[in-house]
Amino acid sequence: MTERLYYQNAYATKFMGRVIFCKEANDGCFHIVLDKTLFYPEGGGQPGDNGVLGGVRILDTQEENGQIIHYGDKPLEVGIEVRGEVNWTWRFDLMQNHSGEHILSGIICNKYSCDNVGFHMGKDSVTIDFSVQIPSQDLLWLEEKANEAIWRNTPLSITYPSKNTLEQLEYRSKKELFGEVRIVQAGEYDCCACCGIHVRFAGEIGMIKMIGAQNYKGGTRIELLCGKRALTYLQRVNQAASEVGRKLSVPEDKIDEAVSKIQSERDMLIQEVKKWKWQSFLMKIEQLPENAKDVLILADELSGKDMAKLADLAAEKKNGRAMVLTPSQRGYAFVLVSRKKDAHVIETELKKQFNCKGGGKEEAVQGIIEGDENILIQFFEEKGFIYAK
Ligand SMILES: [Zn+2]
Repeated sequence: MTERLYYQNAYATKFMGRVIFCKEANDGCFHIVLDKTLFYPEGGGQPGDNGVLGGVRILDTQEENGQIIHYGDKPLEVGIEVRGEVNWTWRFDLMQNHSGEHILSGIICNKYSCDNVGFHMGKDSVTIDFSVQIPSQDLLWLEEKANEAIWRNTPLSITYPSKNTLEQLEYRSKKELFGEVRIVQAGEYDCCACCGIHVRFAGEIGMIKMIGAQNYKGGTRIELLCGKRALTYLQRVNQAASEVGRKLSVPEDKIDEAVSKIQSERDMLIQEVKKWKWQSFLMKIEQLPENAKDVLILADELSGKDMAKLADLAAEKKNGRAMVLTPSQRGYAFVLVSRKKDAHVIETELKKQFNCKGGGKEEAVQGIIEGDENILIQFFEEKGFIYAK
């Protein structure tokens, strides 16, 4: 069993330890075991530490059968004494986020008499899954309550209560525990069995910020940022909001209204453009020579529905045929309507000359056609179609 120095002092970063095992593993790392270590191995939802050990970079720390394995990028000689240093930036960030998670979980589990059923501490954010649906109108209050623990600089104490005391104690735990239980108490806010590393006082967490809440497996998944992560996030979001506000000439807390206004103006303009586009098609059809029975229309960005509507209208007006083409990702989308009930015949001819896929009835076919625009126009002009430019 490796001696766990991090439980004696979670704030110590430097130590000396003796190498008792070192072997290259299949994962490309050297698995190094010391007699004692300050490196925290992944556990209790908290990722493992990284840092330096005797000049060797330690990328991760894991635990196997009571032994703490340091994942080194180089080997270390067994028997020698080495100096280790834990990456404090990484460790302290995890401590802030783990303690923040406890406080928020404690508040939520107390308020809704629910359980924390999942916890993942990623390098970007922390997610916590609760067994109940948390009303969305409560989220801001819960966040404020969690931050209140920080403002009060609530102490986080770690104890190993006796069996009798433990039986009387109300504490959160994801599983039934046997033997010595490590209890992390955050004042009135939380009491939880945990093997992770925590800050001494909630003030060190700095800030607790929820950045998302969604329904998850019948309960709620909350995404959380604490400490520097929360500050960095707020700086980034504030910068983006300021930038949008500057572009829209409104204060950043009014950008939502300003964007909604732009969206409705844009929707109105789209409708207006559609109306004018339609008018111009009607004019094109009106301007066709009296004797023109068959029409070819090449139009930009028409929906399938509008293509069919336009082809129908033109064929009806002229009592003949109408072919409407619009550029698509691959060639052109087309709709061919024929009052002469020979849409299939023309489609068959198209298939002979072009790469064409389509289907429909005698009155109308639609599909996709690939080919040069001028050759397509020529094909229809040869058949007596008038190209409505
Ligand atoms: Zn914990």
